[in-house]
Amino acid sequence: MNKYDVIVVGGGPAGLVAAGRAAELGAKVLLLEKIRQTGRKLLITGKGRCNITNDAQISEFITHVYPNGKFLRSAFSSFFSYDIIELLKRYGVESTLERGGRYFPESNSSADVLNALLRWVKEQNVEIQCGKRVENIKKENNAIKGLVVNGQEIAASKVILATGGCSYPATGSDGDGFILAKEVGHTIEKVRPALVPLETKGDTAQKLQGLNLKNVMASVWVNNKKLGEDFGEMIFTHFGLSGPIILTLSRIVVDEIDKQNDVKIQIDLKPALDEQKLDNRLIRDLNEHGKKKLGNIFKYWLPSTMVPVFIELLGINPEKECHQVSSKERKQIRHLLKNLPFYVSGYGSFKEAIITAGGISTKEINSKTMESKLISGLYFAGEMIDLDAETGGYNLQIAYSTGWLAGSSIKK
Ligand SMILES: Cc1cc2nc3c(=O)[nH]c(=O)nc-3n(C[C@H](O)[C@H](O)[C@H](O)COP(=O)(O)OP(=O)(O)OC[C@H]3O[C@@H](n4cnc5c(N)ncnc54)[C@H](O)[C@@H]3O)c2cc1C
Repeated sequence: MNKYDVIVVGGGPAGLVAAGRAAELGAKVLLLEKIRQTGRKLLITGKGRCNITNDAQISEFITHVYPNGKFLRSAFSSFFSYDIIELLKRYGVESTLERGGRYFPESNSSADVLNALLRWVKEQNVEIQCGKRVENIKKENNAIKGLVVNGQEIAASKVILATGGCSYPATGSDGDGFILAKEVGHTIEKVRPALVPLETKGDTAQKLQGLNLKNVMASVWVNNKKLGEDFGEMIFTHFGLSGPIILTLSRIVVDEIDKQNDVKIQIDLKPALDEQKLDNRLIRDLNEHGKKKLGNIFKYWLPSTMVPVFIELLGINPEKECHQVSSKERKQIRHLLKNLPFYVSGYGSFKEAIITAGGISTKEINSKTMESKLISGLYFAGEMIDLDAETGGYNLQIAYSTGWLAGSSIKK
């Protein structure tokens, strides 16, 4: 006789929801967490504010998930954004909707989200043990037999693995789960950092470090072909580029860099103006300030901290009076405003990546139950599955939904 009906490995959002749900349905549940506390990563989400989920409908939601958002249809049908909002509300956490369909706790505190989840889980009588690292999975005839935890074997016929990915390893998710799953025969799709800052060649980004740009369009180029673009906010850092739109585009960039391709990020500083409208604006300003030095009027087109760097890249004498600017030079200015180039030299490590791309192949998981197709009694949930999404609350929802479905499937 096993002491527990199910053992959940990993105390992140996926593991907590899986454990709470299985226990709610009557299972005796043990949750094992490697580090001293559960939900360590959850606490740092959304810069400590926790972007809980997104209000997109399922059909749109799955378009923000890679490489195969459709895999999540059953998981999302079983537990979706309104369900987590409702669950948190029951435990005193009100949510508020922000730009881009992003939900945050009204209190702006990720700790409130974690505490609400923990209260729910504890009310369901889940036994939580921290400081317990699962080192091996034991199987017999392709069925789960038990786990080795801190050197000791525990019998188990149902196990939910929810050990996260490799990003921010200090939070406990350091890739352990991939080793555990591989040892029992699962295929791990190439694991790589995603939603990660980019390093760029030269010192332009460095000179602009700290500058935050809003309402710009960044695009990714390889061999003169545009592979993607995103509109919104970005920031220059001491090593390159970061911020929401860069993190989103990093998914394309990482794959291209891994293929040894030369990648260029181009920034359109004036996306609201097409070439003609921008030209009209430049003509107007140059005429209006005809007697002023060119260097003194860039501030009308750019944030002031950007002006010296822009002038340097442009290579036009800033001492020149505006009325002396030729149409060729005006074209150069226009071109740089619409196409500020950065050549990518690399990308950040797992230490800086918000999420892990790759992981347990979805081909080997039953999407209706989250059970392994190779080993009966073994279930997967959360970031360790080969699914990753853009920023916007999508990744946490994947964790809750797959956790809920795995927890719900235990009794069947
Ligand atoms: C800085 C940052 C900000 C983020 N902000 C957001 C956001 O605002 N919104 C959003 O949707 N997503 C955000 N994310 C992503 C989100 O945090 C993850 O998608 C989510 O935490 C994944 O949940 P999980 O339960 O699968 O894994 P994790 O949260 O990583 O939890 C896995 C747990 O398993 C434990 N574990 C690992 N190996 C073992 C083992 N061998 N034995 C026992 N336990 C083990 C780990 O210690 C860890 O506690 C952010 C991520 C980062 C890094």
